[in-house]
Order: sequence, then structure tokens, then C-alpha cells
Amino acid sequence: MNTFAYYNPTRLFFGKDTLDQLLTQVPPYGSKILLVYGGGSIKRNGLYDRVIDLLARQQAEVHELSGVEPNPRLSTVHKGVQLCREKGIQFIIAVGGGSVIDCVKAIAVGAKYDGDVWDIITRKAAAKDALPFGTVLTLAATGSEMNAGSVITNWETQEKYGWGSPLAFPKFSILNPEFTFTVPKDQTVYGMVDIMSHVFEQYFHHTGNSPVQDGFCETILRTVMATAPTLVENLEHYEARETILYSGTMALNGTLAMGVRGDWATHNIEHAVSAVYDIPHGGGLAILFPNWMEHVLDSGTARFKQMAVNVFGIDPAGKSDRETALEGIRALRAFWSSIGAPSRLADYGIGDDKLEVMTDKAMVYGPFGYFKQLQREDVLAIYRKSL
Ligand code: NAP
Ligand code: FE
Repeated sequence: MNTFAYYNPTRLFFGKDTLDQLLTQVPPYGSKILLVYGGGSIKRNGLYDRVIDLLARQQAEVHELSGVEPNPRLSTVHKGVQLCREKGIQFIIAVGGGSVIDCVKAIAVGAKYDGDVWDIITRKAAAKDALPFGTVLTLAATGSEMNAGSVITNWETQEKYGWGSPLAFPKFSILNPEFTFTVPKDQTVYGMVDIMSHVFEQYFHHTGNSPVQDGFCETILRTVMATAPTLVENLEHYEARETILYSGTMALNGTLAMGVRGDWATHNIEHAVSAVYDIPHGGGLAILFPNWMEHVLDSGTARFKQMAVNVFGIDPAGKSDRETALEGIRALRAFWSSIGAPSRLADYGIGDDKLEVMTDKAMVYGPFGYFKQLQREDVLAIYRKSL
């Protein structure tokens, strides 16, 4: 293991009846609240009314920013920053999926930054202060509810970047599996693909001696795979929603990364696709991850064999490590297809006309990836394989 420091200050409230925690968690920060949400799912399923009622009971002055896009845009972050300044906002509440939460993280640091928040997202400046914020999560996927990362798209320039700051941890996050009952089947699948992808990003490393971390990763992967078929058949299955919601948080709250150096190349490659084509993040990952795996297989065949055996139950007897590893990757493709995830860029109508553009965007900070450092030709090859 590598030397590491671990810090995670987010207070988590998980389970039924946890929404009432808004009554205790919000007032210490003040009464001027900005409520941020997406395109209306929380109005349709009644969560909006419940949140408003709890804020009214604490005499909060509530301002709203709605319409946060999936793949949240800088223009919406700017609107939120302006509202915070105009209204003297003291606390922000995100009610939604990863996009709403990521948008709120950028608003929170942007409101305290004397310049354009894009500087922070593009790492030209570091956040020095932030408004406090909390979240009510409605979709299991990103882990944003308990981490300090955020991904923002500048649609004018077609750039999508991840950024992070210790100031971007939510003060609290409320997770009730029932709030995810109305997530449609396709988004439910994308969420599970994203969760598994976060595990893969941290599982593929060369650090050595990580038996506990490996076990955590393998357990999450096996559990998501065991639960997914039940969930896609019955979207209101409480235990399945509960298991996936908990998996999503545990997959990216820093636990799996303790003492190891994960890869994270595939997320970078995916961000370049959704920056140009605005496709769902989980859908892009389902297409790209198996192709990344085959591309980098020879940089650490033993690790891929371990995944094949421990996660996909492949019998290694009489096979080379490489053959076992390839069977594992095939099993991953088959599993994702079985739950309805896309497998080719063509599934989103994406052809080969912008491969160079996407590669330029992915390479903007130079070669990347820690399991295998990817050069321009590697990225292009992975896109080509994904067509
Ligand atoms: P999302 O973009 O937040 O939401 C996707 C769709 O699901 C939206 O149309 C949303 O509708 C709908 N939805 C959400 N909750 C719902 C509910 N309970 N019932 C019905 N519909 C619901 O999805 P996400 O996968 O959570 O977030 C994706 C973004 O996160 C991407 O930009 C990705 O790059 C980023 N990401 C962040 C991290 C991180 O650590 N911060 C990690 C990975 C990915 P409404 O808008 O109407 O609510
Ligand atoms: Fe992700």
C-alpha cells in the first residue's frame, strides 16, 4: 500500500424517514436557502413538496434554481452563483442526481470566488472558500453525495472536466431508497454501470498488497451484478434499491482508494464523448470500459485474471492468464448487455467523424491513466474499437 491520508466529513443519513433531518441539519447554517433541482422529476414524484414543507417549518427564505441539465452546464452554474450573491444565500440544498449535486458544488465555490468559476474547474485557480451545502440524493450512480468531486460541461466550448476541492464535500447527504423508485429503467442501468466503473477505476492499479481494498471492490461488483436483474424487473423493489444506493456511495467516497493509486483513464475518455455528444455518462462508460480493458490488458494480466475469477466466476483451469482475463472481459460485456446497457458508440448514432476532436479533448492535460498511461494513439484506438 501507499502512504495515505483519509478525510471525509460528509454526514450521511441513510434509510426511510431520513428526510426530516432537514429540520436539524439546515438551521445551523442560516435561513436563506437556495434549493437546486433538475428538470422536474422531484415535482412529479412529490419530493419537492416534502422538501418545501420541511423548509417552511423552519421559516426558511427559499430561493430556487431549477432545470439543472444531465451533464450540468457552466451556464447553469453561473445562474446559481448570481442568485447566491443577489439573495445573500447562506446554505444550498441539492435535490437530485449527480448532475444537480455537481452543479451545486460548483455554485458553492463559485459564489465565494472573485472571478469566473470556470478558472477553478479548469484548475487555473484553487477554491479558497465555499458556501456550505447539503444533498438529498434521488439517483444511485456517482457517489457525488459523499465525495468532493464534480464534473461540469462548458457547452459553448464543448469541454467537460472533472474537478475537486476539499471544500466541495456536502455537509450532509440524505439517502432514502424510496426516493429512487421513480428513476426510469435506462437511468437505473446507467447508474449501475457508473457504480461498477468507479470500482474498476480504483481496482486497476499496480500498487500491490491491497487484499482488503480488492475484497471491498470485488464485493461491490458481485453485489451490483447479483442485484441488477431484480431491480430492472421491479424498479420499486426496496431492498434492491437500498443495496444499489449503498453500493453507489461506497464505490466513490474514498474508501476503495485508500492506499492505492487507481487509473481513471476511462472516465476521462468518456467525458470527452459526452462533452461533444451529450450522451449519458453511464451509457458512455458501458461502451468504453470493456474496450479500455482489452487495450490495456497486457499492462497487468494478473489483475484482469483476478477480476475474471473473483468477480465473474471464470474457471482458470487449463487456461493461460490472458485467456482467463479475456473471458472475464467478455462476461462483463455480456452482463451489461443483459441489463440493457449500450455497447457501441453507434447505439447513440455516433460515427467516426469526430474521433480526433474527442481525442484532443481527452488529451488536454497530456497523457493520462495510471494502470497504463495512455498516449494520443491509445485514446484513438479505444474510440475506434468502440464505434
Ligand atoms: P443525472 O444526470 O443527475 O440524472 C439523470 C436523469 O435522471 C435526469 O433526467 C433526472 O431528471 C433523472 N432522475 C434523477 N433522479 C430521478 C428520480 N428519482 N426519478 C426520476 N428521474 C430521476 O444522473 P447521474 O448519473 O446521477 O449524474 C451524471 C453526472 O454526474 C454526469 O455529468 C457525470 O459526468 C457526473 N459524475 C460525477 C461524479 C462525481 O463524483 N461527482 C462521478 C461520476 C459521474 P431530473 O433532472 O428531472 O431530476
Ligand atoms: Fe462516473
